Amino acid sequence: MILVVTGTVLLSSTVCDREAWLIAKNIEPDQYNPFIEIGRWIHTESYKNNQIREISLPGMKIDMIYEQGQMIIVGEIKKSSKFLKGARIQLLYYLSEMKKRGVNATGKILIPKEKKQVIVVLDEQSAVELNEAIDKAERIISLPRPPQKKRISFCSKCGYQEFCWS
Ligand code: SF4
Repeated sequence: MILVVTGTVLLSSTVCDREAWLIAKNIEPDQYNPFIEIGRWIHTESYKNNQIREISLPGMKIDMIYEQGQMIIVGEIKKSSKFLKGARIQLLYYLSEMKKRGVNATGKILIPKEKKQVIVVLDEQSAVELNEAIDKAERIISLPRPPQKKRISFCSKCGYQEFCWS
């Protein structure tokens, strides 16, 4: 099976290599994990007036796309600003994939609970950062076995908590 890096795998690889590997192998996290439920609720209830919501393309599940003046904005909704680094890489990946399809867009990480927005721009420097993140994620997902589990603060909220620690 050929595994490809996706936005979600990139996001996870900035937090936990093992989680990135499990996601890449399509091993479903616990759907009843309350933190996954809360995230789903925030995604559904926030920014309801934006016209285009949730677009799925290969390797991408874009929360929203809309025009703002002359710009096309790709919005990624997050629960909190805790994992901004990963959210930024995920969004850079979406911007890069859209650019390959002829669409130049700007990214926005939207954090409704904190009334916060973070602009993400794909430029020369961030493209290097993205390529490094893709290389790292490709190394992780090509491993024959999941990387060793390591207890980190995120484990208590992770959808694979039972898989790893029960
Ligand atoms: S429970 Fe912890 S070690 Fe396991 S995948 Fe999640 S974050 Fe990684």
